[in-house]
Amino acid sequence: MKKCTHCGGSNLRKTAVPFDAEGFSVRTYVDKKTVYDSLEVLICMDCAHIEWFSEKLVDALKEHNSRIAQLKTELETLRAKLTAEQEKLSAIDIKIAETEEKSKSLDITIREQQSLLNTIETLKKERYGIQKEIRTAERSIRSLQSKLNNN
Ligand SMILES: [Zn+2]
Repeated sequence: MKKCTHCGGSNLRKTAVPFDAEGFSVRTYVDKKTVYDSLEVLICMDCAHIEWFSEKLVDALKEHNSRIAQLKTELETLRAKLTAEQEKLSAIDIKIAETEEKSKSLDITIREQQSLLNTIETLKKERYGIQKEIRTAERSIRSLQSKLNNN
C-alpha cells in the first residue's frame, strides 16, 4: 500500500502530471542501458502532497545490484581457486626438488633412478597444468574486475 510521505495517509489518487507538459518520464542510466519509465504521480487526498513513483527504475536498480553481488561472489570464488592453485604449485616445486635430489644419489640403482626421473617428468606435466590453471584464473579475475569497475 502506497502512503503519503507527508501525512502518512493512504488516501492517494492518481493524478495528471502537475506540470504544464505532455507526459512526464524518467530516464536514467543503469548498466550503460537507458531505463525509461513514465512516472506514476499520486496526490494525497488528505494533505495535497504529491508523490512520484517509478517501478521500472527500481526494478533496473535491483537487477543491477544483484548482478554486482553475483560478480563479487564469482570474484571471491576465483581468488580462492587462485590461492589454492598457487599452494599446489609451491608443493609440487618442493616435491620436484626433493625427487631430483634423490635421483642424484649415488646409493640408488639405475632402475630406481629411472623411476625417479619418470616421477619428475610426471610432476613437471602436473606443474604445467597448474600453471595453466593459474593463468586462466588470473585472466578471469582481471576480466571480472574490469566488469566491476565499469559498473
Ligand atoms: Zn498526505
